[in-house]
Amino acid sequence: MPTIKASILPDRNAPLVVEEVTLDAPKTGEVLVRIAACGLCHSDLSVIDGTLPLPTPIVLGHEGAGVVEAVGPGVTLGEVNQAFDNLRNGVNLRGVLVFS
Ligand SMILES: [Zn+2]
Repeated sequence: MPTIKASILPDRNAPLVVEEVTLDAPKTGEVLVRIAACGLCHSDLSVIDGTLPLPTPIVLGHEGAGVVEAVGPGVTLGEVNQAFDNLRNGVNLRGVLVFS
């Protein structure tokens, strides 16, 4: 199981902490991506201040660039390509695991 460094918001309006976390292997329909760079955007700031009320603790940073390292069962190359097309077109990705 890979370990990663993740930017974690422990609670609303709290400072972000960078901690090591362990990822599971990709499950059905998921893709594992080695992240080269990732930013925090306005959506992440909205999670921090509660404008976008998501449960905490939560890992922030969803706009990354990287290389696909592994795919879960049932994932085809066409689906991986479609996921990256969706990302380029601003469509939300779900079920994508990232690590750096
Ligand atoms: Zn964003």
